[in-house]
Amino acid sequence: MKNVRQALALAAMATGMTLTGCHTPQTVTETAASTAPQAQKSTDVTVTAVAPQDEDAWLFRKRLAKAEVPDAVKAALQAGKPADAKLIRKFPYPYRSMVAISSDIDDTTPEEFAEYHRFLNTKEETPHGRGLGLDVGDSFWMYMANDQGGKTDQSGHGLDGVLTYFQGTDPTKKNFAQAIKHYWKAGWLDSMHTFGDFSRKNHGDAVFKRDYAVKAWEALQADDIRLDVWINHGNEANVDAFGAYDPHRFSAYQSGDDPKSPNYHTDLTVKNGVHFVWDSVGESTVGWDSPLFEIKLRDGQKVWGFHRDTQDRAANGSIDWNWVPREIHRQINQGNLDSLVDHQQYAIFAQHLGGYNIGFPFDERGLASLRLLAQYQDDGKVLVARTSRLLHYEVARKYVQVAQTDFDGETWLNVTGIADPLFGPQPLTIDAVRGLTFYVKNPSKTHLLLNLKPIKPEDYQFNAADATGQESIEFKWFKPDYTDYTLTSTDQ
Ligand SMILES: [Zn+2]
Repeated sequence: MKNVRQALALAAMATGMTLTGCHTPQTVTETAASTAPQAQKSTDVTVTAVAPQDEDAWLFRKRLAKAEVPDAVKAALQAGKPADAKLIRKFPYPYRSMVAISSDIDDTTPEEFAEYHRFLNTKEETPHGRGLGLDVGDSFWMYMANDQGGKTDQSGHGLDGVLTYFQGTDPTKKNFAQAIKHYWKAGWLDSMHTFGDFSRKNHGDAVFKRDYAVKAWEALQADDIRLDVWINHGNEANVDAFGAYDPHRFSAYQSGDDPKSPNYHTDLTVKNGVHFVWDSVGESTVGWDSPLFEIKLRDGQKVWGFHRDTQDRAANGSIDWNWVPREIHRQINQGNLDSLVDHQQYAIFAQHLGGYNIGFPFDERGLASLRLLAQYQDDGKVLVARTSRLLHYEVARKYVQVAQTDFDGETWLNVTGIADPLFGPQPLTIDAVRGLTFYVKNPSKTHLLLNLKPIKPEDYQFNAADATGQESIEFKWFKPDYTDYTLTSTDQ
C-alpha cells in the first residue's frame, strides 16, 4: 500500500513537470492491477505497485513511453538493418545462457503429467519439496496406434490412458482433448510429438496416412491451438516423421515430406504454423551457439531444425541415451551449466519425463540437478525457457532489424522487423521481441520503439552494466507464471 501511495504521489508530480519531447498528460494512467481502494474509486486514475527503488526508472520509462516520435527522427527510424553483434546482447540481462527441457510425451498419462509439472512449473508445496517455478513446456499426441501394450503408469493405465487428443485413431472421438487445450493455454504444452504414437511391434506395419494429418489440423485449428514446434517420435512405423530423410540410413522411413507418398503432410503442417522441427537425429553435444539449423524438405520447403541433447557417447563409441528422467543428472549438472555460461550458449535437453512406469520421475540425483538449474536461474546465469520460447527468441535475436538515431541528447531505437530468412517477416508483437536486449550509451535516455510505437513501461527495462561494462535496454522477458494449472481427473 505504501509503495502504491508513493508511486501515485510521484506520478502526480511527474505530470506537472515539463519534459522535453513529452506532452503533459491530462490523467495519470498506468496499467496493471492494483487493489488500492483509492484507485478503484477513481474513474481516471489506476496505479501500479512499484517498489521504491524502481520508482525513478519507472517514471522515466513512463515518460519515454508517452513521448511522441518527433518528425525529425521518423525518417531515420523507418529503414531497419540487421542488428550487429555489438548492439545486441546475446541473452536477456543478466543471463549468459538459455536452456529448455523438451519432453516427449511417450507413455505419459495426464496424472503423471500433472504431478511432474506441478513440481517443475509451480512453487507449490509438493510431496517432493517446494516446486521449482521453471518454465518447462511439454508435448502431446493426437492419436494412439501403438500395438505394444503394457502398463504406462503406477495406476495401471494402458496406452489408452496416455495424453492423446483423440481416442485411438478415431478422429470422431475425443480422449484428453479438453486437458490438452487447457494445458496449451497454460503454456505447459508447447510442442507436438508428431501426430501420434504410430510405433508398432512390426516396424513395417505403418498405420499413418495423410488423412490423419488433415483431421488433426482441423481439430487443432478449431481449438485455436497454434503449434509451431514439431518433434519426431519413435521407430520406423512412424512414417509421418520428417526432416532427416536419407535412403541409406535409419531415417529412410521418414516420408511426411515426400509429396509422392500417401503419408505426405508437410504442405499442411508448415502452412498450419510448424516452423521448428526435431528431426530424430540424436546428439551428444550439450551447448550450441545457436540451436537452429536449416532443413530443406523433400517438397522444397525449408524449416528450422533444432538440436537436442539426447545421449552421451560411451567409452566404446556406442550411444548411451541420457534423455530419460533417471539420467537427467547427466544432462543437467554443474559442469554442463558452467560451460554453457562460460561459452554463452543454448542447450535443449530432450527428455521423456512421463515415459516410464516409475511414478514421480526424478530420483535424488535428478532432484538435485533440477534444483541446481533453478539456482543458476536465480543467480542470473541461466534462463530456463520452454522450447518454443527459446527457439523464437533465437530467431528474433538473429534476424531482428533495427533503426536507431540520436536526437536532442536522446537515443531512439526502433525495431522494424524480424526478417526470418525461411518464413519471411514475422509478426511484430511484444511477445515476439521479448528478451531482446540492446547495448546503448544511456538506457534511461533511450526511447525503445516497436514498429515506431512506444512500448508500455511494464514491457521494457533498463539494465545495469554487465561484464562487458555496457548498460542496456531490453524488451522484458515473459513474466514468470507459477500458477498451478494441474487438472484433477474430476476436471475432465
Ligand atoms: Zn517419442
